[in-house]
Amino acid sequence: MKTLLVTGGAGFIGANFVLQAVADGLRVVNLDKLTYAGNLDTLESLNGNDKHIFVQGDIGDRALVGTLLQQYRPSAIVNFAAESHVDRSIDGPAAFVETNVVGTLGLLETARDYWRSLAGSDGDAFRFLHVSTDEVYGSLGEEGKFTETTPYAPNSPYSASKAASDHLVRAFHHTYGLPTLTTNCSNNYGPYQFPEKLIPLVIQKAMAGEPLPVYGDGLNIRDWLFVGDHCSAIRRVLEGGRVGETYNVGGNAERNNITVVKTICALLDAKKPLPDGRKHESLITYVKDRPGHDRRYAIDASKLQRELGWQPSHSFEAGIEATVDWYLANRPWVQRVLDGSYRMERLGV
Ligand code: NAD
Repeated sequence: MKTLLVTGGAGFIGANFVLQAVADGLRVVNLDKLTYAGNLDTLESLNGNDKHIFVQGDIGDRALVGTLLQQYRPSAIVNFAAESHVDRSIDGPAAFVETNVVGTLGLLETARDYWRSLAGSDGDAFRFLHVSTDEVYGSLGEEGKFTETTPYAPNSPYSASKAASDHLVRAFHHTYGLPTLTTNCSNNYGPYQFPEKLIPLVIQKAMAGEPLPVYGDGLNIRDWLFVGDHCSAIRRVLEGGRVGETYNVGGNAERNNITVVKTICALLDAKKPLPDGRKHESLITYVKDRPGHDRRYAIDASKLQRELGWQPSHSFEAGIEATVDWYLANRPWVQRVLDGSYRMERLGV
């Protein structure tokens, strides 16, 4: 049976990936530190499933990671673990450097030593896949898209720390020959996203009839991708990507923030009208812009389509409706995040 070591698999994208991989018959060793963003509620359906081995720990803990690699002998490591929220990186960049840069370095060194210990075809088949973001490329003007050769120009402490980790991954391939792959993906949305990020935040506040905060003029553009499509792209790159290469992943779905928010409002007007008859759009409140807020991201994912035949299977309209439906149907998941009980249970309180 094929085994993967997945890091950060209790977070938003990592957990979606783990659920998909286990459903497809893979065995997953899931290493996650369980920061505020890690949520074992998401993985509840895997309780008692011997294809999912959860381990609480840090990617930078060389002894722990080395032991896991020797014990479970995975054929690949997929590194999702990171501090991921731009606003938090503005308030406290150190944690981002600690996990995204120093932690990734530790993981790379441990992976390199394990890979060197593998004989013959096991060594040839091994892959280290690093999950990164399009934010490393900086901000676009009105035209153009990021390609894999766009120079790095990160603007936030978050994207700077991800850029540094991407460079370390590249260096481990060139210097030590570690068989690495890197994916740079646009903004994700979908089930199980922590409600501090734009889409789940707006859905949850709109359902509660609370003000919907929108940064600046609301015209910042992101290229939105449904999380399940991101996970399938990672699987495709893992299976067929050329070693040492990077692949951009995107949904070809550029939308400005205010359009995203108004789309959610219209869906909720139809599916869960406010009790007092107001339109959800009336809750929109423009707030002071995020410092250094990148204006536009857009991804050219044609390399991934050309080389590996991947394309997203959800349009933005289909994906956002599925997401709104998921949040409407899973209010206890959101409630346990909001009231903190998703963490207390884990701590045994
Ligand atoms: P998330 O914040 O929801 O999850 C991160 C997970 O990593 C959490 O479960 C957390 O507990 C864990 N973690 C944090 N520090 C750790 C450490 N030192 N050791 C082990 N585990 C640790 O993030 P996400 O949105 O799921 O993003 C996952 C990855 O994808 C990140 O690397 C992020 O940069 C990248 N990415 C995210 C997006 C997006 O739109 N969310 C887009 C492109 C790329």
